[in-house]
Amino acid sequence: MILFVCESLQCHTITRVMSRSVDEMQALVGEGSEWWPKGYKCPNCNGPAGAVYEIEVSPVQLKDFNIRELDAEDYFRFLMGVGLPEESDCSVEVLQQIFSKSKVKSIAGHRISGTKRFCVEWLEMEDGARLYFGASSHGATIYRISNRPNYTEKALNDG
Ligand SMILES: [Zn+2]
Repeated sequence: MILFVCESLQCHTITRVMSRSVDEMQALVGEGSEWWPKGYKCPNCNGPAGAVYEIEVSPVQLKDFNIRELDAEDYFRFLMGVGLPEESDCSVEVLQQIFSKSKVKSIAGHRISGTKRFCVEWLEMEDGARLYFGASSHGATIYRISNRPNYTEKALNDG
C-alpha cells in the first residue's frame, strides 16, 4: 500500500491507497503516474502531498495522523479533478436542498471574450459548499460538490 502524506501540519492527514492489483495502483497513482513522488494533492485540504510506501514507515509514525482510506481508482479520480466518492451525489434533491438553505457567495470561471457571457466553473455557497460545473449537450451539469454541509446532522443537532 502507498501512503500519501499531506505536507500541511494543520491538516495532518495521510491517505492510504489500496488496490486489488498492485500493477493497477502503480499505473494509476504510483510510480507509473505523472505525480510520483511529490506531485500529489491531499483529499482533505487540497494541499500538496508526497508518496511513501507503507512498508517503509513505522506504525508509530502514523499514530498522530488522521488516516483516510481510498481505492487507487478513487484517488486517481480525485487527482484528475473529478472529486471524491462522497462528492459525487449531485442529484436534484441535493441541489434543491443546497440552494434552499444557502446563498451563492462567489462565482468562479472566465469571461467569454467578445461577448457578455461568463463560463461558470464553480459556485461557492455561504455555507462553504462548492459546486463544480461541466458542460453537457443538454445544459450545465454539476458533477461534484465539495465541502458539503451535512444538513441531516445539522437538523438533528438544532433540535
Ligand atoms: Zn491535507
